Amino acid sequence: MRAMVLEKPRQSLQLRDVPKPKVRAGGLLVGVSACAVCRTDLHVVDGELPDPKLPLILGHQIVGRVEEVGEGTDPQFKVGDRIGIPWLGWTDGDCAYCRSGRENLCDNARLTGYTINGGYAEFTVADARFCFHLPDRYHDVEVAPLLCAGLIGYRSYRKTGHARRLGIYGFGNAAHLIAQIALYEGRDLFVFTRPGDTATQQAAKKLGVVWAGGSDEMPPDKLDAAIIFASVGPLVPAALHALAKGGIVVCGGIHMSDIPSFPYRDLWEERVITSVANLTRRDGEEFFEIAPRVPVKTKTETFALEQANTALEEFRAAGLKGTAVLVTNAN
Ligand SMILES: [Zn+2]
Ligand SMILES: [Zn+2]
Repeated sequence: MRAMVLEKPRQSLQLRDVPKPKVRAGGLLVGVSACAVCRTDLHVVDGELPDPKLPLILGHQIVGRVEEVGEGTDPQFKVGDRIGIPWLGWTDGDCAYCRSGRENLCDNARLTGYTINGGYAEFTVADARFCFHLPDRYHDVEVAPLLCAGLIGYRSYRKTGHARRLGIYGFGNAAHLIAQIALYEGRDLFVFTRPGDTATQQAAKKLGVVWAGGSDEMPPDKLDAAIIFASVGPLVPAALHALAKGGIVVCGGIHMSDIPSFPYRDLWEERVITSVANLTRRDGEEFFEIAPRVPVKTKTETFALEQANTALEEFRAAGLKGTAVLVTNAN
């Protein structure tokens, strides 16, 4: 099969002809039709995340059709079914985290497109327990970005509890998806972009947010919560400074530049800073239940599988109008 392979960090992906993976017990062989590109893919390529599997097939927002079902696999998955494969690819089910409902923190978790092969290929294998059936209202390309930007964004959003005034720092793919749910649930949204990015601010206002401005500005009201989707550490003290008492800052990314120091008075009065790591299957089930009701709409730009490097570079240069989605014609 054709695959785009990362042989070493800080190198382009290589188009390779590699053996089709073999389905294992409890698993599925999936013909990939679409795989969305995530900022995490760039962090892996850039060597910013430790110990990736090498050589590695990236990609953890995978949509495809079941080609083969392994022995003992959950009978809810049949040949021909359309499924989604997310970032969380496997957990041991047995560590203290798994046993306390926090499988996202599993000590031995395997992560799709990072510590196990992902979807920048014609085929992939997955543990069926971590796969999702996808809502029918979406076609393959448009549903792909929901599998990480949507799911992990949703986990970040849920951490904000019942915050009425919600700030979002960095209005990229994940923010755009989560803003739609937050507005649907009646939150007042305050969107912060790069200073001077009036085009993105206008786009946010069109969605119906209360306020949109630069990340160097203070919002007109104190926030009950803020989610930071940009991988820019100085946004943490900025968001903290904008919080009301008891507010929370949620860092939604896997990697961020260093956070500068800030006065303790900005954390005082029970303000909280937290991060979000991975997802649980329950996050996925909840998200795929609510997304089609909103309905959450995605914006995508498609690239052929072989153009993965171009997609990554355009993403890096902020030259995309939507989430890059690699399409294969494997099925
Ligand atoms: Zn991701
Ligand atoms: Zn575990």
